[in-house]
Amino acid sequence: MTNLNENVDILTARYAQIAHSERMYRLICETSESAYIYQNFVDDTIRTISNWGYYFDFEINEASDMMNIYNFIEREYAIALRDIMSLEKTGRSEDSVVFRLFDGKTWVECNACVIYDENKKPTDKILRFTNITKLKNANDELAYMAYYDIMTGLYNRNYFVRLLGDFVRRAEVEEDYIAVLFINIDDFRKLNDSLGMVIGDEIVQTIGQFLGEFKNENIIVSHFSGASFCLAIYDPCGLRSIDAITSSIHDRLKWPFYLSNQQEITITVSIGISQYPESATTTLDLINCAEIVMCKARTMGHNSIKYFDAPILQEFLQNVSIENKLKEAVFNQNFTLKFQPQYFIEGKKLRGVEALIRWRDYDGSMISPMKFIPIAEKNGTIIPIGAWVMEESIRTYAEWRAEYDYSMVLSLNISAIQYAQTDFIDNLLEMIDRYGVKHDEIELEITESILISDFRDVSEKLIKLRDYGIRISLDDFGTGYSSLSYLKGLPITTLKIDKSFVDTVLLDENTKVITESIVYMVKKLGFETIAEGVETEEQFRYLESIGCDGIQGYYLNRPMTAEELEQHVLCYI
Ligand code: C2E
Ligand code: CA
Ligand code: CA
Repeated sequence: MTNLNENVDILTARYAQIAHSERMYRLICETSESAYIYQNFVDDTIRTISNWGYYFDFEINEASDMMNIYNFIEREYAIALRDIMSLEKTGRSEDSVVFRLFDGKTWVECNACVIYDENKKPTDKILRFTNITKLKNANDELAYMAYYDIMTGLYNRNYFVRLLGDFVRRAEVEEDYIAVLFINIDDFRKLNDSLGMVIGDEIVQTIGQFLGEFKNENIIVSHFSGASFCLAIYDPCGLRSIDAITSSIHDRLKWPFYLSNQQEITITVSIGISQYPESATTTLDLINCAEIVMCKARTMGHNSIKYFDAPILQEFLQNVSIENKLKEAVFNQNFTLKFQPQYFIEGKKLRGVEALIRWRDYDGSMISPMKFIPIAEKNGTIIPIGAWVMEESIRTYAEWRAEYDYSMVLSLNISAIQYAQTDFIDNLLEMIDRYGVKHDEIELEITESILISDFRDVSEKLIKLRDYGIRISLDDFGTGYSSLSYLKGLPITTLKIDKSFVDTVLLDENTKVITESIVYMVKKLGFETIAEGVETEEQFRYLESIGCDGIQGYYLNRPMTAEELEQHVLCYI
């Protein structure tokens, strides 16, 4: 009796345990978003469990019903799914496949699991179907974002680097060539500022679409960043030679592009080209070299092309080193000034001095302002540098003024960046007044490039400066746009004829004619003319004969320190 009771207890406990697990499994099945097919090979039964109706509109009562599933999926996945659904035939225990339903949208993952007995005969199989559409789409988007640039649909920078890496490895083995073209839309910032960012983006898209047409298995096209694109050509020759590609780019750019707002726009690009293996042999170096020469091409004017060569790299590295040292030099005020006298031709009377900045590097070598001023203009250090030159030279000039009681002109070179500062005039006037210098003793040397940028703003400022009595001199005349017609309306006092004219005026009849007519016209306009870079007596005599007012140059004085100027010039006035 006791035994029977014990057995009943055990059975009851077992039953409770089974009921408990069944509840648990039912709950799992009911809450699961997946659907299942369970097949038992021992008693030859098959049934669907859980969310089956959500996925498939048919019932499975025997194994052959499973075939209906192929009516619900896209054909290309049928074979892979068949292999999974009959996994027991392979002897494997687990596998999975991803397929798309016939609606073209829903992605489903099928996992199969087969259990075998000790004789390797299958006993049970479960197939689980799970909707993974969201996950798949997110993954696809991620994959897209990893390879493509959203704005243009071209490859992005990272993927371009990877693909170019593949090109380089292939070229190493096959001893082939590769060309990398770094293409940049000219004046893009200006376009963006004047037309707005939306149009700016459209321009990038338009150029991207056009460049995308070159894409094939030997040409990779990418949007690198902002207004820059990169093209890599494997084994450039024939239709995909550098010449063929750059010519067709230039041919297309001869015609305007039409924007969505009906606007017509002409675009030009600068192209820098590096080549494997001559320019560089690694992916990143190839891109860097192409970018460096693109920057050089950009300075040469619109639609320029520049090939990479060693001197350009040298110049680039030197500029980078100057740029690094420049900030430190500004911080430590490592500059000095030289002053070069300017004379009236008549009586060789001292007219004034031009302040010229000097920078001595720590190793004692001088770095020319021709080299570092353009870099300072690019990185903004021209603002503190220019302010220092102004303060230091006006202070020095005020001392001479007090000591020698001689009124002359202090000429200051003013960069366009400095001139564009809104507080430029106020700062200058404050300084002049603080040192008690007369307004007409200060002359600002500006270049034609200032006038090109924002003519109205520039001329308003010039008028204001002239109203205060400050003199304005147009420097390097003849090297820029050199149009006498726009000078008419400008409140300029002096025009400096560039050294390049003075150099050749006695050698070349054309230069002679131009120089003479410049002097004649400028006099008619009422400006004073100063010739710079005068090195010989003959040049001096000639300039005198054509009626030039002043001269500056090694013939009379080189630029000198404040002390030298006092000893050799100011002492004798
Ligand atoms: P620039 O304003 O045209 O200055 C005249 C340059 O010609 C000076 O070179 C001067 O030393 C040089 N020069 C004068 N006479 C002769 C001559 O007879 N023969 C020869 N071969 N050269 C002569 P520097 O001092 O090297 O300055 C070069 C340029 O750097 C200047 O050209 C100017 O554009 C810029 N610069 C110099 N100082 C400053 C400054 O304080 N601020 C700014 N923004 N630019 C400056
Ligand atoms: Ca000057
Ligand atoms: Ca000059």
